[in-house]
Amino acid sequence: MDLDEILNDVSALLAWELDEGTRTVSVAPDVVTELASGCEKPETQMPEPTPRTSKPQLAAPTAARTPAKPGDSLDAIAAEIAKCIACPLHEGRTNTVPGEGNSHPDILFIGEAPGADEDKQGRPFVGRSGKLLTKMIEAMGYSRDTVFIANINKCRPPENRAPSPAEMNICIPFLKRQIALLQPKIIVAMGATAINGLVDLPKGMGITKVRGSWLEFEGIPLIPTFHPAYMLRNPNMKRPVWEDLKTVLRRLDKPIPEVNKA
Ligand code: URA
Repeated sequence: MDLDEILNDVSALLAWELDEGTRTVSVAPDVVTELASGCEKPETQMPEPTPRTSKPQLAAPTAARTPAKPGDSLDAIAAEIAKCIACPLHEGRTNTVPGEGNSHPDILFIGEAPGADEDKQGRPFVGRSGKLLTKMIEAMGYSRDTVFIANINKCRPPENRAPSPAEMNICIPFLKRQIALLQPKIIVAMGATAINGLVDLPKGMGITKVRGSWLEFEGIPLIPTFHPAYMLRNPNMKRPVWEDLKTVLRRLDKPIPEVNKA
């Protein structure tokens, strides 16, 4: 990756954070000092770029898959979600959004939380991000009906803010029960909330570093990629996401469509 690409990605990321309502970023004092001194250095004294560390790769599943509780069902979980008042997000909701799709899918796509359109309809990814996600699913040779689409949180956070860690922790047991029933062959975790909700990343590892790498959730191969909302704001991110989706197809032994139609 050259410097232009890195700067483009950083500026796209900051623009996205700004859009998401982020107004401050934490930067360690030593980083500020280093950046400031770097600005004063003539070009010839710029340090050599540090080689990019290789992406973590999953060797073999290490955890046993969690079986579903006897008698549990996707409908029963959706009914419990509809009644849930365990976190403050229930106060602003019109509808809960449990997720939808094939009950034994090859692929489970997981996003963050419903937005305004999803809250209105009670269905995941039906707004602008959803249209893009649908296109990408179709470009892979699947349809919305043949995969399952869900979110970490089942109620819309106010003003589409990211759910808090406490709100995530309260809601994630529903998703875990869904996963135990669905037993997808692969989980695609879209965006930081989905990844952080399902995987304990080592310190310093974020979406940009782990994107496209095989991780796992309870024995199920999981691949992190960017969230469709991020792609909408940064169309040049469609390419890396498409690469990640091709990685998924390869693992599933599916043909890879030649043209990225998404
Ligand atoms: N963004 C999400 O993360 N999930 C949705 O369902 C819609 C938008």
